[in-house]
Amino acid sequence: MATNFNAGEKTFYLETFGCQMNVHDSEKVIGTLVQQGYQQVQEETDASLILYNTCSIRDKAEQKVFNRLNDTKALHKKGKRFAVLGCVAQQEGEKIFDRAPYVSLVSGSASYRNLPQMLARLEAGEERITGLDDRQTDQTFETEFTARSNPYRGYITIIEGCDKFCSYCVVPFTRGKERSRTADSVLAEARRMADAGYTEIQLLGQNVNSYRDPSGKMSFAELLAAVGEVAGIRRVRFTTSHPRDFTRDIVEAIDAVPTLCDHVHLPVQSGSTQVLHAMQRLYTREWYLERIAWIRAAKRSISLTTDVIVGFPGETDADFEETLTLLAEVNYDAVFAFKYSPRPNTPAISMPDSISDEVKSRRLQILLDHQRELQRISYAKHIGEIVEVMVEGHNAARGQVMGRTTQNKTLNFTTGSPILPAPGSYVQVRITGNFPNSLLGETLVGEALPGDALYSPTLPTPTEASLPKLVTIGALSA
Ligand code: SF4
Repeated sequence: MATNFNAGEKTFYLETFGCQMNVHDSEKVIGTLVQQGYQQVQEETDASLILYNTCSIRDKAEQKVFNRLNDTKALHKKGKRFAVLGCVAQQEGEKIFDRAPYVSLVSGSASYRNLPQMLARLEAGEERITGLDDRQTDQTFETEFTARSNPYRGYITIIEGCDKFCSYCVVPFTRGKERSRTADSVLAEARRMADAGYTEIQLLGQNVNSYRDPSGKMSFAELLAAVGEVAGIRRVRFTTSHPRDFTRDIVEAIDAVPTLCDHVHLPVQSGSTQVLHAMQRLYTREWYLERIAWIRAAKRSISLTTDVIVGFPGETDADFEETLTLLAEVNYDAVFAFKYSPRPNTPAISMPDSISDEVKSRRLQILLDHQRELQRISYAKHIGEIVEVMVEGHNAARGQVMGRTTQNKTLNFTTGSPILPAPGSYVQVRITGNFPNSLLGETLVGEALPGDALYSPTLPTPTEASLPKLVTIGALSA
């Protein structure tokens, strides 16, 4: 059922699956759609165009998208058009039309720069539109029309794609080869964001520290420092780093530039050199630990987080044990752990997947319990510290404020005042308690916010389960 949109019907609903790269791509897609005269709506039923920006990093993520399409396909009979964007689109290509014939547009991220033309064809009633650039593209998706959803913290993509080809990963096939933006263009965007009131910038890339300035002016560490020196910017983060490209000057930059956050996310994936070899990670356990030693030797206390895959083909009990000992040795502040799932086109798909799902689940649970215990001990060491928190939200009923420290830890605190600090503001907080995944605190007496009433002592003592949940976005790859 083809539909030609009328001007008044140009409404869209966009749902994003996956990592920060996808979230930020969606911000750029939304900006482009708005610039083309579309209006964003919050319900599929109100939209003339329904877009899903998809993730294929794990089988579960991919299934979610097809389930979502299945749930909403009846809307096609009401004249709505469907578009599938992102990694599943690039991976499955025109096969999506066979599986979901009501989809009209399929586009991978490397083709988003052609969105205005694709939208024009859609509006003209075309039923099968594809934007499926192969991985040879040299272009990035830079646009003036980014519609950032958060008014104080924003993303900047500095590099797209990946040339690493880890044996389990679809990213090189869905996101294409590495291509970096010039340092000048990144800095210009950072300055525009600072002028617009943003104080926190997160530099993004599947492999962010593989960044190579096409103009040759700056290394990744120099760009990091330069963004941190943009007037008005108080916090700079970057994700995700690959250990192969992690250089000492990144630590030196963090030590030298106060606005660079005290946090490095450095995916290890396994503690076993044998498994790392099968994963084609191109480093050993010892080599990785050397990078950790650089970070631990910094003047500042830099928090460390990582990604781990359990149950990779061939992983023995002894290999898994090595991952557990590595977690204890590094003492990470957070670990994102996943069960291995075979992905199309990857070398690992042809390896015998010898680990049963039951064993993968058991190992995952053991790892999470182990890490939880490590964090319970390490987070308790923060009690008594005074830290700066960027406010992210409130739970007014409990009189609590949710924020994030420079180490990227969630901190829920009370202020002693009914007037809560606004999201995006910075507050000094004393840490008074901890859970394995978050901290508790209170603002400093005399430095609390305006307002006289005291924080009600009758409010229940929070438990971790009762605390408001911040949205957690899955880590990028690297
Ligand atoms: S895991 Fe990261 S580094 Fe490896 S191929 Fe995927 S995106 Fe590239």
